[in-house]
Amino acid sequence: MFNARSEPGGTHLEVRARRDALVIFGGFTALLILFINIEAFEYVVRFSDGHESWELDEILTAMMVLPFAMAIFSIRRLREAHLELDWRITAEERAHAMAMHDPLTGLANRRNLTQALEKAIARADVSPLTLLLIDLNRFKAINDLHGHQAGDELLIESAKRLQAHVGSNAIVSRLGGDEFVVLLKDVANSETILPRIEEISASFDEPFTLNSGSVSMGASIGATTVDTSHISAGTVLSQADAAMYKAKLRRSNCFHFFEAGMEMAAIRRAEIESALRKAIDEGRIEPHYQPLICLKDNRLIGYEVLARWRLEDGSLRMPDDFIAIAEETGLIGDMFYGLVERAAADVRNWSPELTFAMNVSPVQFSDEWLVERILQILTKAGIAPGRLEIEITENALVTDVAMARTLIEEFKKQGIRVALDDFGTGYSSLRHLSELDFDKLKIDRSFIHNVAHNESSQTIVRTITSMAHNLGLQVVVEGVETIENALSVMGYGCDIGQGFLYGKPMAKAKPYPEAAATDEASDDDDEDGGGRLAHSA
Ligand code: C2E
Ligand code: CA
Ligand code: CA
Repeated sequence: MFNARSEPGGTHLEVRARRDALVIFGGFTALLILFINIEAFEYVVRFSDGHESWELDEILTAMMVLPFAMAIFSIRRLREAHLELDWRITAEERAHAMAMHDPLTGLANRRNLTQALEKAIARADVSPLTLLLIDLNRFKAINDLHGHQAGDELLIESAKRLQAHVGSNAIVSRLGGDEFVVLLKDVANSETILPRIEEISASFDEPFTLNSGSVSMGASIGATTVDTSHISAGTVLSQADAAMYKAKLRRSNCFHFFEAGMEMAAIRRAEIESALRKAIDEGRIEPHYQPLICLKDNRLIGYEVLARWRLEDGSLRMPDDFIAIAEETGLIGDMFYGLVERAAADVRNWSPELTFAMNVSPVQFSDEWLVERILQILTKAGIAPGRLEIEITENALVTDVAMARTLIEEFKKQGIRVALDDFGTGYSSLRHLSELDFDKLKIDRSFIHNVAHNESSQTIVRTITSMAHNLGLQVVVEGVETIENALSVMGYGCDIGQGFLYGKPMAKAKPYPEAAATDEASDDDDEDGGGRLAHSA
């Protein structure tokens, strides 16, 4: 980058203007001295008198005026040079600002943050700091669905929300993509910092209003507090990143503080990503089946398909440890199709009245061939679309209601049923429920695990069930682990039960109630033992 100020004697333009003025002035003085010495003026007068017809007096007058014109010309050149200098200084300042700020949001950029962080770390022994790494949830899905314009709007609005909630003694920066960092420099103690992080996290719960409509996004926040100057900025950032990743795994808007050992997890995350890619290619993501039971007559009606990653050593990795990575890296689509294909091959051998339910991630909403490709797989396997059920989580719904509506309609048109999953954990409104054409509603297992003894769970299950029935939806209860809970939900009129009581997810769909009676010792395929209670009609 050029530097107009540091050039000795000003810019080249100023130097040239000054040199010109000097040359003209010097030449003029030299000529003057020469003319005086040879008494040129008297000679010229005499010569002019002798040649009246040559109009030499006019030429002489013009020559007397010329130096003034030259002087004015030089002054103007000098002024221009000054103006150009000012312009260059402004441009240089602008370039400097650009080098330190994110052009889209105007926030500090990575370079700027690193400098500020290094300074804050140097003082951390006396004045501890907290660093927050904020990663927007579902940003990729919204960006893919609504386009880059909407993505930019979201980033700008997120920047505004962050700035509004961090206070004046903080630096907000954008690292790139959908990652932001907040450096809080006035951290009195860990108790005072918690409500501040909670406030920042809560600010992302509110929907974002875009030109194209309203979307809900949320954020995962990793936090780390530094009270020593013996740590590098890079280490502090990777601590926050590791904590953020932990928060991300929970797949809801939340924050997590860094704990020792988490760095390893962050390093492993990159390894998991490439291993997952390989596992998908090699078909090592396998479907496991968990029974769905009609509560009225204790009859098996089908299975939910749950993804399991078979590792090289034969052990299983659970979906909570890889679905989020699959979503983030865009691997979820390939993983899903592979799973549908394998499930379809198994379903062919089942009794024809049995259904199977597949989970669809909101990231897949942007896949315009989703319904078509599923139908292709079903047709190839000779399975009627009516046997498939798609589960969409409540959180997926609030990401983009319009898109969810279109997709649900498409599935329904093809005879594929759609269930609203994890109901009660997200923010969907009653209006969404009545507007969208769901067939079933699955009450989240958190409301079921103690329903026999917890009054508020009872009220929630009862209310949701009667509301769903009024809207013409069937109610599925997840997480039924005990007979007590099963009896409770049956009393509230819930239609379908799922849970360890009826059977855990298993590699081969077993008939019921055999599935419930399966014991770990007797079945290698059953990943975690099967329901211990044999529950029969
Ligand atoms: P989900 O769709 O709510 O699936 C039910 C989860 O509850 C399963 O966990 C299941 O093992 C567990 N569960 C079932 N009965 C009981 C019970 O009685 N007690 C308790 N404590 N838990 C029970 P899993 O298989 O670990 O799956 C976790 C989540 O991962 C699923 O929640 C689903 O959201 C996601 N997931 C699984 N497979 C896929 C997939 O193929 N695609 C997508 N997008 N998500 C998937
Ligand atoms: Ca599900
Ligand atoms: Ca669920």
